[in-house]
Formats: sequence, C-alpha cells, structure tokens
Amino acid sequence: MEYIKVSENVYVMYPHHNSNLPMSASNTVPTTCIALPDELIFVDCGSYPDLSSQFRFDMEKKFQRKTNYLILTHLHWDHFLAMKVFKDVDIVAPEQGIPEFNNFITMINKTEEDKWGSLFLIDDDDVIKIVKEAEFNAPNILVKEELKIGSQDDEIIYRVIGGHSIDSSHVYFPSERVLCAGDNLLECFPQLPGTPEKTLEIFSYWESLDINKIIPGHGYPIDKKYLLNVKVYFKDLISVLKQLIIKNISRKEILNHPDLPNYFAKNDPNWSESSRPDLNWLELLIQGWYRYLKRTQRKK
Ligand SMILES: [Zn+2]
Repeated sequence: MEYIKVSENVYVMYPHHNSNLPMSASNTVPTTCIALPDELIFVDCGSYPDLSSQFRFDMEKKFQRKTNYLILTHLHWDHFLAMKVFKDVDIVAPEQGIPEFNNFITMINKTEEDKWGSLFLIDDDDVIKIVKEAEFNAPNILVKEELKIGSQDDEIIYRVIGGHSIDSSHVYFPSERVLCAGDNLLECFPQLPGTPEKTLEIFSYWESLDINKIIPGHGYPIDKKYLLNVKVYFKDLISVLKQLIIKNISRKEILNHPDLPNYFAKNDPNWSESSRPDLNWLELLIQGWYRYLKRTQRKK
C-alpha cells in the first residue's frame, strides 16, 4: 500500500493489493483520512481489512487523534468490504443505498461462493476470502441529502448527489479544497456516470466549488483540470451522439464512428478499460448514452 499526502490534513491510502493482478474494482479504491482539529474521519474503507486497519492505526498515531466516523460515498461492496475495521465508530451512509446494502448481504448469505464472481463481479480469490470473513455493520447515521461534521472553520460537507448510483455521495472539505468524489469520477478507468443530464449537473456543481485536489472513487488523487477534461469529453460526446441520432446511425456503427471524441486518458499507462478483462466501460457508456438520448429525443 501507499500513502499519499493530499493536503495538510488529508491523506489517502492506495491499496496496490496483489500488484500481480490487473486493476480490479477492489484494488483501486482509495481510502481517505481527513484530520479535523480533534477527530479523524475516514472516507470509504475499501476491501482489505489489514490495509485499512494499518492506515487507521498510522493516522491515529500521526495526528494523535481518535477516529469518530467512517463515511461511505455509496454502498457498493468494493467501498465498504473492510468496514469491520471501523465497527467502533459512527458509520455514515446514504439512506438511499440501504436496500442495496441489505440485498448484497442477503445474496452473499444465500449464494454459493463459486457464483460470487458472476453475481457481484468479484474475481479475486483474496477478496472472496475477505467476503467470507467480513462483518457487515449496518450504518448508524443515514443521510438523505446533506450532513455537516466539524466546526464551521473546519467542517466537512457530505452530500448525496446521485449519478453513478442512486446513493452516490461526495465529501467536500472546503478549508483544504479537497473533494472525495466517489464513483462519479474515476481516474484509472473510464467513467461510470448516470444519465447525461445528471452527469453534467454534477460536474457543473463541482466546477463551482473551490477545489484543488479530488480523490476519485477509483485511482489516484487528481486535480481540477482532470474534472474539466472529463466534462469536455462528456459535452463533446453528447453533442456528437445527438448528431448521429439525427443521421440515423445504428447503435452498432457508432462505436467506430470517426466523429466520436477521443477519451483523453486512453493512453495513460495506469489506465484500464474496466475492472474486468471482458468489459469495455467506455463502449458501454457510449452505447448507453446513445440509447438514452435516442429515447429522450424521440419523446420531445
Ligand atoms: Zn466502486
């Protein structure tokens, strides 16, 4: 694992778990520690209890403060699997995600272990072992819209914003200009956003915030420029897709259409087409938005 200092009081632990494996859902989720004047707050705990526990221990020692909260950006397993490390603190989560959280636990309990891969996209033997030994503590602070923690000068703002999933949320720490974006922004994979309208709404809102560093749902911390690059790509993609719909280009043909904008991160060495070798998320995004825009344009 690797620790990254993001700002004076914000550190990120990047798991690098089993670096022989390709980038997966679990081994790319960063865990963030925000040190407020008299408490520590962690955002997402990732999948590996041994790594999260070491990170918590090291941060408590460094800042000489106790941990009071684990905040979850959304209730997908890759972001909460290691939650037993935080069973003694308040766990904050979006209320909208509780049905999916409960559903995951029920399905794990009643599904044979060898089917977890296809059902939950868990394809790493180490992670399967962790799931078997996991303890799922129901989050005790449920947030529907917004929660502020800390004093006014050092507060963090947790907000449920939707998009990637109905319960997707972000954590904003204005005094150090840091945003934990959750899975509405990814660094090592293509994006997995919601509808085009919702996505542009979220990105415009983020653009209006005073931000220096962003911790994505998967991958390394990035700066605001990255956010703007993604937004430009989305805007270009939407306008090209609308043109292709007018020209009545079929869904099969659009993927290789020369008018499609180029995704700026495609040639980065630390980038992968998806968390699984059999999927290409960029193609799924293009096809999904094409279908969506075609449907909504027809309605107009
Ligand atoms: Zn995720």
